[in-house]
Amino acid sequence: MRIFDPHIHMTSRTTDDYERMRAAGVLAVVEPAFWLGQPRTSPASFADYFDGLLGWEPYRAAQFGVVHHCTIALNPKEANDPRLQGVLDLLPRYLAKDRVVAVGEVGYDEITPAEDEALTRQLALAVEHGLPVLVHTPHRDKAAGTRRTIDVVRESGLPPERVLIDHLNEMTVGMVADSGCWMGFSVYPDTKMDVDRMVTILGEHGLDRVLVNSAADWGRSDPLKTRAVGDAMLAAGFSEADVDTVLWANPVAFYGQSGRLDLSSIPAELTTAHVTTAATAAVAAGGDYAGNTVLRGSPA
Ligand SMILES: [Zn+2]
Repeated sequence: MRIFDPHIHMTSRTTDDYERMRAAGVLAVVEPAFWLGQPRTSPASFADYFDGLLGWEPYRAAQFGVVHHCTIALNPKEANDPRLQGVLDLLPRYLAKDRVVAVGEVGYDEITPAEDEALTRQLALAVEHGLPVLVHTPHRDKAAGTRRTIDVVRESGLPPERVLIDHLNEMTVGMVADSGCWMGFSVYPDTKMDVDRMVTILGEHGLDRVLVNSAADWGRSDPLKTRAVGDAMLAAGFSEADVDTVLWANPVAFYGQSGRLDLSSIPAELTTAHVTTAATAAVAAGGDYAGNTVLRGSPA
């Protein structure tokens, strides 16, 4: 099984996670820029964070044979902090970078005027830079927040096929399916969407324009949830080709619209649909990043 996790915050995860993900078939990830749990106090903190998403983190992923791309944005939660308005002015220079495959995650948290302003400006930046957009939906008032998100996306003039609306559930999947946008589902250990409900939704709505992610971060989450969904799909009677559509072909098609998705470092035998476990042994990239490596001392 080859897996592309289209939404995971690897900066918050350990090298053990990279090892386990790669052994489970995760060959590629997209890491959206987001909140760090601890509020930031100045745009300069964002610049350092964005630099890490484009430098150190892809280097670290490559040590475990995982291809790393990112999305860049001012996240919905911190859009409410007036000290961080300047982040919007930093974005154009980051959106021009090669490994940035979308604007995101943008969207609503508490649906405030400041969030409205940040969302509208960032949708305009996506149009300007010819990039797809990853849109977060709020955890409270999810149905109303998702409806409003779809309306704002429509007003932006972005074609729906360049928009991924994420963190959906049974209540919101229908309206996003009707909008023509891509549908993202974050599968968590104990909240929001779980593996069995995910498989039921795939049975009811089909596989078209559906992406499944772990959204793993610094909270209770599990970077192997993508693999768990693949296994549960097979157990429920979906074919290996179906699993490949959801866990590989769909994210590649969505982020491929950026023209920047570079999967060329993945060995050719792993980019075909049926990958054996033996063939997925990781190939570490080696070398260093600005004089730093993931090694701690020399091997015994
Ligand atoms: Zn996220």
